[in-house]
Amino acid sequence: MCRTIAELDDRLTACRACPRLVAWREQVARDKRAAFRDENYWGKPVPGLGPDDARVLVVGLAPAAHGGNRTGRMFTGDRAGDVLIAAMYAEGMSNQPTSVRPGDGLRLIDTRVTAPVHCAPPDNKPTPDERDNCRHWLVTELGLLAPTLRSIVVLGGWGWQALLPALAESGWAVPKPKPRFGHGVRYELVGSRPDRAPVQLFGCYHPSQQNTFTGRLTPAMLEQVLGAARDAGGGGRAGARR
Ligand code: SF4
Repeated sequence: MCRTIAELDDRLTACRACPRLVAWREQVARDKRAAFRDENYWGKPVPGLGPDDARVLVVGLAPAAHGGNRTGRMFTGDRAGDVLIAAMYAEGMSNQPTSVRPGDGLRLIDTRVTAPVHCAPPDNKPTPDERDNCRHWLVTELGLLAPTLRSIVVLGGWGWQALLPALAESGWAVPKPKPRFGHGVRYELVGSRPDRAPVQLFGCYHPSQQNTFTGRLTPAMLEQVLGAARDAGGGGRAGARR
């Protein structure tokens, strides 16, 4: 039982529950990509990134092999992370528009970024068993954030499907039929227990290279969803460029 986000992050980074993912994250960390050969890869489960009293939670899929698995920070160090951090900065949710390595000063504002699977999977595809193994970490994280959490942005349909059962387990009522994922959709989920405030759930296409290179997701589209979630969460705009 974790009582704080710091305790959660600490315990999570020692998890070895998924043999395939443990082997992959460590192999990638040993072999490295040529461009990062002088860096020490993290090579462990990647905890959520951001304050423990966040009002907005951004939920992705899993860390990238040479992104989060290298930097140790969720959604940083790869192209998708570059797009996300730039959009967060534009909406006043981070203190700088780029994140290149650990210790570069990045600070998220009122916002935490996490994923339903905390270890980098081969081909960015966790198995259903790996997703289910990792769910308890997300359930715990949602519970610890609950006192301040007011909005959630889910990046992609895979994360959406993984998050809904975690939300139900964490004390929010997930309607039936289940809310459907789509870019720009918004649902309100009320608590199924008295200590859970309503949460606004937003869908957004994942900022993968496949989506951003093809124009399926533009920076403006991503900023629009993040800004709506920030406003719904009551977060400040300090640091926003506009
Ligand atoms: Fe543990 Fe999750 Fe990593 Fe599996 S994916 S080893 S459950 S942290």
